[in-house]
Amino acid sequence: MAEHSALICDKVDPILPKILKDNGIRVSYEPEITPEALLEAAPAHTIIVVRSRTRVTAEVIGRAASCQIVARVGVGLDNIDTAACEARGIRVLNAVEGAMNAVAELVLGLMLSMARQIPRADAAVRGGRWIKKDLVGSELRGKYLGIVGMGNIGKRLARLARALNMNIIGYDVVPIDAELSREVGLVKADLDTLFQSSDYVSLHVPLLDSTKNLVDARRLALMKPTARLINTSRGGIVDEGALYGALSSGRLAGAALDVFEVEPATASRLRGLEAMVLTPHIGAQTAEAQGLAANVIGEKIVQAVRGVT
Ligand code: NAD
Repeated sequence: MAEHSALICDKVDPILPKILKDNGIRVSYEPEITPEALLEAAPAHTIIVVRSRTRVTAEVIGRAASCQIVARVGVGLDNIDTAACEARGIRVLNAVEGAMNAVAELVLGLMLSMARQIPRADAAVRGGRWIKKDLVGSELRGKYLGIVGMGNIGKRLARLARALNMNIIGYDVVPIDAELSREVGLVKADLDTLFQSSDYVSLHVPLLDSTKNLVDARRLALMKPTARLINTSRGGIVDEGALYGALSSGRLAGAALDVFEVEPATASRLRGLEAMVLTPHIGAQTAEAQGLAANVIGEKIVQAVRGVT
């Protein structure tokens, strides 16, 4: 195996540097590296590893003359200029498997938070208010969950939601796994029908030209006034201006966002809406998901440098 040197640019589970070192790959662990320092360090490495903090721009790729692999310890490749990598013949690896269960469980948490008003209940008790009478919630059992994007996370969510006796409606641009459909009793629908029929709509598509503002004012207007929207996929898939309008006018009962058009979303006006649950892009932020993603990406890098895949 040729000499390899990996530059790990973000904080990762310790299992990743261990796997690389155990397989003869030199490792520079720089979890706080600045963009300037990355440009300086890039030429010395054959492998660049990032999570979501570090951006692998065309400029970085231009400087990384020996680079053969860029690896993302996670799913989305938004922070990597994949076109620049492709133009140089650099392999781009990611770890889809890590986040599946973590994101699906977060969706359950967000649905339950809205159905039982858990954030409001918690804030009230902390504030010395016992508002039990105001907190009549609803149950997930028997409700219709529309899942947009039946890939890895959508499928996992379908299984978990079925275990809570929810009814699953699915939509994807590619055929939906027939075995899974049978297993969870999934009903396929076109996108507008899914929005019209669901009590909860959860988004699990990548951000593409075709999915940008997929949930706009027209689609929000199709939803039942009692329905709720959850986005744990990518900011930009929901038109936040239109969502603000639908929630503030009472057209829609609630929404939960883990991802935003602009992150960090610490200045978003959505923060002022009580009908919202907001989380800071924590979908894959579990110890288990980080460990699994680090393991998967470590193995993929080792296989790639050995020429196995
Ligand atoms: P995946 O590639 O397995 O599945 C995506 C599915 O979306 C595919 O089945 C694809 O056919 C479908 N799709 C594409 N365009 C579509 C369209 N226009 N309409 C309907 N379906 C369409 O991806 P995944 O691993 O399930 O991830 C889904 C999303 O979750 C991605 O956006 C990913 O970036 C995001 N994600 C977020 C977090 C987080 O921290 N919140 C963590 C991991 C992943």
